[in-house]
Amino acid sequence: MKGLLKITGGAIALPFLCGIVFVVAYVVMVGVAIPQLPSWAQPSLTKWLLDIPQDSDNYDAPAWNEYDPTRAFSGTWTDYIGLDAEIIGIPLWGPLTKWGEVYEKPLLGCTYHDSNYSSHTGVDFPVDVGTPLHAVLSGEVVWAGMNGPWGRLVVIENNGYQVWLAHFSEIYVEEGQIIERGDILGLSGGDPADPGSGNSSGPHLHYGIKQRDGDDYWWVNPNQFFTSDDYLPWGCSD
Ligand SMILES: [Zn+2]
Repeated sequence: MKGLLKITGGAIALPFLCGIVFVVAYVVMVGVAIPQLPSWAQPSLTKWLLDIPQDSDNYDAPAWNEYDPTRAFSGTWTDYIGLDAEIIGIPLWGPLTKWGEVYEKPLLGCTYHDSNYSSHTGVDFPVDVGTPLHAVLSGEVVWAGMNGPWGRLVVIENNGYQVWLAHFSEIYVEEGQIIERGDILGLSGGDPADPGSGNSSGPHLHYGIKQRDGDDYWWVNPNQFFTSDDYLPWGCSD
């Protein structure tokens, strides 16, 4: 009878023990394998193996349009065209950190009209709070402050374009100020615990671009202003 109990107990415990061994082996394998990969392969594999939730903003067109300075302040256009009126690059400069890990280049998360968020108006770069955000063109600051789901928002306008950067933790510029490409506009944010983050599921930068056509502005894909050499692919998931 005692022997039978032992066997039965062992049979019941075996799947649990196997499960624990499997989980430990998986974690060890992931921990050992990922750091040995080239840096370009690490972000996407980390996401795939560990399924780390993405830091992004869940864009909902009607609600967000209420907070569009272009609609609310249609008279802001000043036709200021200064030096460096072309949009070039990404507002984040590497090396930078995400979850405390150092990366040589910005991590590209959810993209323009990504299938996960079909009406996403820009591109998201997951990055730790407090990372300096740079101007990608020279121009006039036409919005600098809170704006509904955008959180702390900075909009720079020049040469028929507006560059929208959202979810700041701190803004260093003021409306009406003329800034030059490369200037630091403030610090990245997006921490959901910060009420100034707006609609953000985690620390990241939202980078959007509007192009002027007559009196209208249209969202365009920011990826035409940077190249695949400028970022590490991170991927988008819920
Ligand atoms: Zn976004």
